[in-house]
Amino acid sequence: MTTPLLDPSRLEARRILAVAPHPDDEALGCGAVMWHLGRLGRTIHVAFVTDGGASHPNSPTWPRTRLAAAREAEGAEALAALGLGEVGRTFMRLRDADMPAEGTPDHIAALEAAGSVVRDVRPDLVLLPWRRDPHRDHRDAWSLFRRALNQAGLQPLTLEYAIWLDEIGAPGDHPKPGEMERVSFAVGGALAPKRRAVAAHRTQTEPLIHDDPTAFRLTEATIDRLVGPVESYWRPLS
Ligand SMILES: [Zn+2]
Repeated sequence: MTTPLLDPSRLEARRILAVAPHPDDEALGCGAVMWHLGRLGRTIHVAFVTDGGASHPNSPTWPRTRLAAAREAEGAEALAALGLGEVGRTFMRLRDADMPAEGTPDHIAALEAAGSVVRDVRPDLVLLPWRRDPHRDHRDAWSLFRRALNQAGLQPLTLEYAIWLDEIGAPGDHPKPGEMERVSFAVGGALAPKRRAVAAHRTQTEPLIHDDPTAFRLTEATIDRLVGPVESYWRPLS
């Protein structure tokens, strides 16, 4: 089923919070909408939830701390590529692929950190990862911010971007009937900046780190699937 393409500039939101489970999701998932809203002078804040330090777990030359620092710098570079070099951002630095479990002190601290972000930003639009993305950090980041918004008593419009759903999602990961509505935006002039923003994540897109055969790398196919003329989201129906 095709849905009509919307112009992101017609979103009325004034204060936008984008939640990126890892540095690169902000570009892949919602780079185009942020580019358009940034050009309109809207207030944008990006929360990078995990440190991204688990993509090359066996690299002797890129231990976790070095990789996490590089990924933060890449996140900042990606925002600059989207014309968002000056926007607020929070690096929450939770452990990539190992976010704290519910009920643990670390989870309580993470929820407090997310609460602090939402209370500061007071968003009227939140760009969230898809609630049942096959990547666990994406689901955990959705839960964390969904709960933080509830606790803060905020009810912004939420749009959820899927990163891995169409590639590796199980049938139950997809929206259920009546649960969500597809919202698709025309990328337009954001295409080239979005592509540059994705490319800024060199640790994920280039064979920069070559001493870990188990390393994660974004494939051209994944990038092409997510960086095109349309940027799609799911909007909850209730
Ligand atoms: Zn991710």
